[in-house]
Amino acid sequence: MTKSDLEIAHASKMQPISKIAAKLGIQEDDLRPYGKYVAKLPLRLIDESKIKGKKLILVTAITPTLAGEGKTTASIGLAEGLNKIGVKTAVVLREPSLGPVFGMKGGAAGGGYAQVLPMESINLHFTGDFAAVEKAHNLLSALVDNHIHNQKNTLNIDPRKIIWKRVMDMNERALRDIVIGLGGSAQGIPRESGFDITAASEVMAALCLSNDLMDLKQKLGNIIIGYTYDDEPVRAYQLNAQGAMTALMKHTIMPNLVQTIEGNPAIIHGGPFANIAQGSNSIIATKMGLSLADYVVTEAGFASDLGGEKFLDLKCQYGNLKPDAVVIVATIRALKSHSGIPFPDLKIPNADAVAFGLPNLEKHIENMRHFMLIPVVAINKFATDSVEEIQVVIDRCEKLGVKVALCEAWEKGGEGATDLALAVKEAAESGKSNFTPLYRFEWSIEQKIEIIARKIYGAAEVEYSVKAKQQIKLFKKIGLDKLAVCIAKTQYSLSDDPKLTNRPSGFTIKIREFDIAAGAGFIIPIAGTIMRMPGLPSKPAAESIDIDADGNITGLF
Ligand code: ADP
Ligand code: MG
Repeated sequence: MTKSDLEIAHASKMQPISKIAAKLGIQEDDLRPYGKYVAKLPLRLIDESKIKGKKLILVTAITPTLAGEGKTTASIGLAEGLNKIGVKTAVVLREPSLGPVFGMKGGAAGGGYAQVLPMESINLHFTGDFAAVEKAHNLLSALVDNHIHNQKNTLNIDPRKIIWKRVMDMNERALRDIVIGLGGSAQGIPRESGFDITAASEVMAALCLSNDLMDLKQKLGNIIIGYTYDDEPVRAYQLNAQGAMTALMKHTIMPNLVQTIEGNPAIIHGGPFANIAQGSNSIIATKMGLSLADYVVTEAGFASDLGGEKFLDLKCQYGNLKPDAVVIVATIRALKSHSGIPFPDLKIPNADAVAFGLPNLEKHIENMRHFMLIPVVAINKFATDSVEEIQVVIDRCEKLGVKVALCEAWEKGGEGATDLALAVKEAAESGKSNFTPLYRFEWSIEQKIEIIARKIYGAAEVEYSVKAKQQIKLFKKIGLDKLAVCIAKTQYSLSDDPKLTNRPSGFTIKIREFDIAAGAGFIIPIAGTIMRMPGLPSKPAAESIDIDADGNITGLF
């Protein structure tokens, strides 16, 4: 029987974190240890002069199945593979959220023999960063209601137009929409509110787009919590919230250093959602990696049309980052799913179905070329994949002039990713990538949305609801039109309709309305129904997790 991820993690011998730090040239004195195997890294280790000349590798994917196609696993595997061929590499990832850990997806620290350690600590609480984000967010919520209750609402906030909710790091559908302030005049003013999951907090997005602590403070101060009776935006600094919020983040802003199974450095920091936010780790963590290692491998959530596009347009422009190559993770099962094979049958070999699904991969390759990046396709190999099926993908990539390599890191660790590592190194060092964002922030809102919809999604046109049009007018009036756009849509299709698999064309992207993250620095055009607070499934993963008298945790996968 194959071992579970947790069993593999437990069987791996970890090195003290100072040893891992030494591989990055970090002195003991610069470490902020959290126990034996985790440490925070002070921001002074970021050195812009060292970042130039380093290689940044983005890992994205084709349109996934419900199970995820292995970007985290491939990112860790690729970093192991690069270290194996002698390239000093750090993998830089997001922190897992407890919601999915207890819900359906389980852990988010890689899989098989490509994992980051200590796996259970990373998945459960870690260094408390999510808790700090949650507290900073909820502090602002408390200040808002206190202002209305205790300060005679001198800011003239319309309680019906408050958009700032509460957050909690749990899948909790019962808290999505609630009424607060019940119980009489001593308990505040009754109004509607609700909870989002912490990963969806704008504080998380702001943390991950900040370049330093003062930048974070400014971003938190600029958060719009709602509107006055006259439709003027009300910002967090008007409630004097940003100082205390940032004070809570003093340690949170420092990236966390851990290790891979093979003892290579991994930096894990921040975890914004990939639908309503940018979906990748912090700019600070990425820059930390680039300052300390020669190569950084980093993942962006979902496929190239979501996390990939946001990484490149939003994070790279705000962080002044320039990727040198991009890996597109493809799986045989996802390609088959794009030919309409239902999930339970994806294990049955069917090379024709793989071929039928290839236009999806082709579109994601094309997408990365729109950013002038050199893509490398990584076939994340599953035990059920047949030789014929894999050959179909290799042949097509060769025809398209795209480098392709198998990634067997899940089964074999770094040894299974050396071919991929060689292909990525060649692509990154070819100098052929000339990263160019798709749009500039100063473009109009409509121009920014259109270019993403047409070029990346493959849409024929964009349609705006009456509400969306009114919001665009408002944003122009209050000066939000020069922010980045972060389109929220389904991850299961290149379009905004999850049923349109493979490579749809001729469709219209319908923008229903906008959310804003004015502090973090983007507006969120919403195409479809968007979940900010997931629920637990009928059989939550939490029911299988246990601990014994000696503190051994089981059932975390
Ligand atoms: P993503 O980051 O794209 O969401 P993950 O790397 O988290 O995907 O992988 C999703 C799940 O699939 C994890 O549980 C992981 O262990 C599993 N997985 C990934 N690659 C393989 C593989 N080659 N064989 C079997 N399971 C895999
Ligand atoms: Mg992942």
